[in-house]
Amino acid sequence: MLTFAILLILIPMGGFLFNEIIFGPVKSRRLGVSLGINLLPTHQKVCNYNCIYCECGWNTKEGINTTSLPGRIEVKKLLSEKLDLMKRFDKPLDSITFAGNGEPSLHPEFAEIVEDVIELRNIYYPSAKTTILSNAGLLNNVVIFEALQKLDNTILKLDAGTDSMYHLINRGSENISIQQIVENLKKFKGNLVVQSLFLKGHYKDEIIDNTTDEEINAWLKHIAEIKPEYVMIYPIDRATPEDNLVKIGRKKLEEIAAKVNAIGIATKVYD
Ligand code: SF4
Repeated sequence: MLTFAILLILIPMGGFLFNEIIFGPVKSRRLGVSLGINLLPTHQKVCNYNCIYCECGWNTKEGINTTSLPGRIEVKKLLSEKLDLMKRFDKPLDSITFAGNGEPSLHPEFAEIVEDVIELRNIYYPSAKTTILSNAGLLNNVVIFEALQKLDNTILKLDAGTDSMYHLINRGSENISIQQIVENLKKFKGNLVVQSLFLKGHYKDEIIDNTTDEEINAWLKHIAEIKPEYVMIYPIDRATPEDNLVKIGRKKLEEIAAKVNAIGIATKVYD
């Protein structure tokens, strides 16, 4: 359910893009009333990954181009105006959320913008949480890692158990091993949420399936090491850029969740 109009644009590569820098707020099952911050372009996805299920579609041939991103001053001004307006109309707010058309931590002023967001949250909605949805692929960068630690809800992606499946699903991640990702996630000392999307299908000649016993067992070992606050378990929800992908049913997702619960870690299942 939308509490304000939220504008999404359909793009030719089979995805949806947010066409605003500050979007929403939307009523989110995970976060309550959430106001989004899109630090990426409003007309194009920019991400260090190119996941086969990405709702924003495929990356463009231009690759990662951070020259057209909104500047820190503009983001702060727009967020301040929006929060001021919401406050004046006595609108509720549970979370200010970094999300949008790609990976938020790619923004060259990401750490400074995090500071601004926390400052504005404290002024306008001190009880609201600050949240990020990130692919966790840039945590080797200490500036990004430290900025993420300042946020209340850090929701980080881990979609596979083995390197081969990780690199197949989260395309563009080939320069980092899953063990490196896990080591970085362990540094949060449990102050994080892991989100994992399960799917089956084909990509070109490759079989995609992160629900096999081999994958789930390897993934569970990672989860046991990371010890997150809880794990969000998802299927595909919207149209994907790759057609040959299948949505995993609720029953299978619940089975995966039960295995996580059996190692003492909470889960939330979404379908
Ligand atoms: S990390 Fe997120 S934004 Fe980037 S390609 Fe994957 S699903 Fe899309």
